[in-house]
Amino acid sequence: MLNIKNLHAELEEDTEVKILHGVDLDVKAGEVHAIMGPNGSGKSTLGYVLSGRDGYEVTEGSATLDGVDLLDMEPEERAAAGLFLAFQYPVEIPGVGNMTFMRTAVNAQRKARGQEELSAGDFLKLVRARAKDLKIDAEMLKRPVNVGFSGGEKKRNEILQMALLEPKMCVLDETDSGLDVDAMKLVSDGVNALRDEGRAFLVITHYQRLLNHIKPDVVHIMSQGRIIRSGGPELAMEVEEQGYGDILEAV
Ligand code: ADP
Ligand code: MG
Ligand code: MG
Repeated sequence: MLNIKNLHAELEEDTEVKILHGVDLDVKAGEVHAIMGPNGSGKSTLGYVLSGRDGYEVTEGSATLDGVDLLDMEPEERAAAGLFLAFQYPVEIPGVGNMTFMRTAVNAQRKARGQEELSAGDFLKLVRARAKDLKIDAEMLKRPVNVGFSGGEKKRNEILQMALLEPKMCVLDETDSGLDVDAMKLVSDGVNALRDEGRAFLVITHYQRLLNHIKPDVVHIMSQGRIIRSGGPELAMEVEEQGYGDILEAV
């Protein structure tokens, strides 16, 4: 599903700062992969480069989703192709209703996929059904996007967006500071509920804790802009027990 080959990327405004030095990654449909690694190893950058965030330049390599070149597309085209990036700190958008925001996003994506747009009524039904599946209080939908939401509510909202947009490839960057226990449970319940044989997840996390709730099929360790080791869930346990030191040294 997601195929990354020898991906190199640097900061656009400062070509002295090269961050990704040849990332290779192959995620198949139905799989959950975790990327772990020390701070500053390029984990978040990988997520940003995949999603098309401004400020990074890919200098070498490729990234495809179901065989389609991602790197050539605008961010919204990547989303329409089935890529979703969940933010650790979702942005607040005062004055924009959450329901309007989500319906606009879903309909933009449906349009790009050649599907008919949903009416307000049909969208409401869809949202209610998805919210119910995920045990999310639909009350949150009446408020402006993320404004005054607690950390947990923001996480729920991200998961709901993910469920509504029906991505093929979900990238979750739960960055260095990590999540509190409740937020971690929310995210992992959401991911587990959305696990499907036609969908894959890339879960970026500094700590092993999240992986107690989301059981990954494959764990990768990233260091200095490369994936230096891959293995099963036991690799995450090894990191938890021994830290990154021994693994990095062995490489
Ligand atoms: P991780 O998520 O693994 O902690 P990042 O992808 O955030 O790593 O960062 C990788 C490296 O690139 C770090 O050394 C970081 O300081 C540097 N970096 C990333 N983005 C920028 C930026 N916009 N400006 C300067 N340095 C950056
Ligand atoms: Mg990060
Ligand atoms: Mg650009």
